[in-house]
Amino acid sequence: ATPTSIMVGTGRAAEMGVLFRQGAALQTLSDVQVIALDKTGTLTEGRPELTDLRITEGFEESDVLRLVASVEAMSEHPIAAAIVRRAAQSGQSLAPVDDFASLTGYGVSAEVEGRKILIGAERLMLRDGVELGDAKNFGDELGQVGKTPLYAAIDGRLAAVIAVSDPIKSTTAAAIAQLHDMGLEVAMITGDSRGTADAIATQLGIDTVVAEVLPEGKVEAIGRLEIGGRKVAFVGDGINDAPALATADVGIAIGTGTDVAIEAADVVLMSGDLNGVVNALHISRHTMQNIR
Ligand code: ADP
Ligand code: MG
Repeated sequence: ATPTSIMVGTGRAAEMGVLFRQGAALQTLSDVQVIALDKTGTLTEGRPELTDLRITEGFEESDVLRLVASVEAMSEHPIAAAIVRRAAQSGQSLAPVDDFASLTGYGVSAEVEGRKILIGAERLMLRDGVELGDAKNFGDELGQVGKTPLYAAIDGRLAAVIAVSDPIKSTTAAAIAQLHDMGLEVAMITGDSRGTADAIATQLGIDTVVAEVLPEGKVEAIGRLEIGGRKVAFVGDGINDAPALATADVGIAIGTGTDVAIEAADVVLMSGDLNGVVNALHISRHTMQNIR
């Protein structure tokens, strides 16, 4: 590729709000066969709302909300903000928290009012031996409709099933259809549960789903997509996406995402939606065609 054609391509891209941080990415992107997408904040708005709250018999809703929200107030996860908002709406005030721990990919734990509180995914409850009983079926049903089921335990007993739902961005479905029209395989990589991830993938026509991954797992997942010498672009927004953005053949950060993601990426989209990915691919293919 000539330096001039690369310069023209990156200039045109910039006018469309697509920033190529190096010219090499413009070339590599034209050879990409797989687009792997982070779910939360990339396919979805990244602002979940609490949609369901089922309290286990023997527990008081007001107690559970106060204890759980007190712990979540210490977390930076968007799920936490949804729970804290809901508790505030029901007039709960927050209690002091001891021994807060954020368990990446699992959830959070702490002590409040002398009680041990755990909130997170099913695997957190499995890890700590909290019995779910029929709450598991309820959680699975929530997942089947694309909601994220969470479980809250107080002193080792399941106190509530909570669901949050993160709306899919209005531009996501059409952008995925265009990626398919361009002959690309579309994959989703998420820390969310298998059921929730599958439901969302079905809604959007996503070809390959990698669910329940820890942040390091995103790097491994990209490695698997690259088997057979395929070139993979990864699109993400979060701190936990940075290693995958750096590993992928082309890392594409959503410009409304975190600084850490933007710094790790080869390409930055000024807009918060996936149309930027479609534009970046068109420009890179067009530029490379003019050269060959
Ligand atoms: P993602 O960004 O794809 O949601 P994460 O690794 O951040 O992946 O989270 C994975 C899962 O861990 C979440 O779907 C949720 O079940 C659980 N989790 C993480 N943080 C929290 C939290 N603060 N409260 C409750 N659950 C959490
Ligand atoms: Mg994200």
